[in-house]
Amino acid sequence: MSKRDYYEVLGVSKSASPDEIKKAYRGLARRLHPDVNKEDPQAEDKFKEVSEAYEVLSDQTKRSQYDQFGHQDPTMGGQGFGGFQGGGDFNGFGDIFDMFFGGGGGRQRGPQRGADLEYTLAVEFKEAAFGLKKEIEIPRTETCDVCSGTGAKPGTKAETCATCKGAGVQEFVTNTPLGRMVNRRTCPTCQGTGRKITSPCTACRGTGAVRKRRKIEVNVPPGVDTGVRLRISGAGEAGDHGAPAGDLYIVIRVNRHEFFEREGNDIYCEIPVTFVQAALGDEITVPTLYGRETIRIPEGTQTGTMFHLRGKGMPRLGNGVSKGDQHVKVVVQTPSRLTDKQRELFRELSREFGEESHEQSRTFFEKVKSALLGN
Ligand SMILES: [Zn+2]
Ligand SMILES: [Zn+2]
Repeated sequence: MSKRDYYEVLGVSKSASPDEIKKAYRGLARRLHPDVNKEDPQAEDKFKEVSEAYEVLSDQTKRSQYDQFGHQDPTMGGQGFGGFQGGGDFNGFGDIFDMFFGGGGGRQRGPQRGADLEYTLAVEFKEAAFGLKKEIEIPRTETCDVCSGTGAKPGTKAETCATCKGAGVQEFVTNTPLGRMVNRRTCPTCQGTGRKITSPCTACRGTGAVRKRRKIEVNVPPGVDTGVRLRISGAGEAGDHGAPAGDLYIVIRVNRHEFFEREGNDIYCEIPVTFVQAALGDEITVPTLYGRETIRIPEGTQTGTMFHLRGKGMPRLGNGVSKGDQHVKVVVQTPSRLTDKQRELFRELSREFGEESHEQSRTFFEKVKSALLGN
């Protein structure tokens, strides 16, 4: 079965604003809500479709991923968009009730998908350029091995909760002008699990989950920058009683480099040259991520002049082939401690320049002065 386009589902254009999307969703959700549409057997499916479309299009990140990749998102390991992948049970009705009918009813609870985790990984500048494999250790909740997440001591079984007959919720039905309205609340006896455990598993004290420190290998691709989020599907917290685990997000932070600075995929650096090199011209050696390069600076190079090394910047993330550039700024160092001989040579040089050099600086300062005074 092919999936309908999310924009089509909500009946909005690709350029719709967040407000338009919200408005379209509210209208459709109100019309299609299964509790006011008892006679239409397809209402629930339509409602789910609309909710899923809204979940993606109302989230800036998910929306741009969807715009780029459609229903197939490469960062999600071929699972497609999440949100309602929590097994067969759909858990969205409680929220929509609270939204339209002012709450008061509590939420419907089934097995909850595990929470997502976030881990900040600091990498060196060069590691960001070439990528790396790194083992990290995260504390997280995992399904208890001893009882396989049931919470019951091995050899015993959990019983069905007598209050809610295993549903985990209690329902209250009222008739309203909009139709029959069903309010649900979490069963107070079993807290929504639907089960009663008489002899709890000792390893997890009946919760079905344990805290562990888990080692996880992270594959950082070349070209990452600070703020890039990598998703490891299913590596987050365990879900409730067999529900799917959440995801683990690795947030990258790239450490500063002593010499290189990065802007997008381009790299900037400064190279000091002597007074004499700048005046006479020279070949200078420049370090790059990929080894040393030689740049020829011409005679009479001014301080601040930029030279460019094509393709010596950062690799483009997810591309692996093309790279940014490296920009080299030449900074002329004025000698600060002169020997008597050098001082004498500079004086001689100055006499040789004669009026020419004084004239140049005078014109320059005149220009600055008139710029500052505005005439
Ligand atoms: Zn256990
Ligand atoms: Zn119960």
